Amino acid sequence: MPTTLAELTDRLIAFRDARDWRRFHSLKNLVLSASIESAELLELTQWQDDDEVEARIDEPEFRARLAEECADVLLYLLLIAERAGFELDAAAMDKIEINERKYPVEKARGNARKYTEL
Ligand SMILES: [Mg+2]
Repeated sequence: MPTTLAELTDRLIAFRDARDWRRFHSLKNLVLSASIESAELLELTQWQDDDEVEARIDEPEFRARLAEECADVLLYLLLIAERAGFELDAAAMDKIEINERKYPVEKARGNARKYTEL
């Protein structure tokens, strides 16, 4: 059975509260932490061109590190959502719908232009 974001959040909050870390989790600190973890994700591809990074997808160690850093980012995003009182899955769904309106298929298909340039 797939894990929902709500289940992940519940487990994460239990992990945090068991360690009495809520006191460190101001909204500002959580936003900073999400950005720091995003930078760790970037670091995995630093100094490599597109082809080098694509070739590493089949390396189990690289894929494991990629998964770990993506998970770190997701966990901080879940903490931000919990702290600020919104549902991240609903926000993501809303954002996809916004992007579908901004980037209609007939105008956006096959190009990478920003919606203001379509
Ligand atoms: Mg990390």
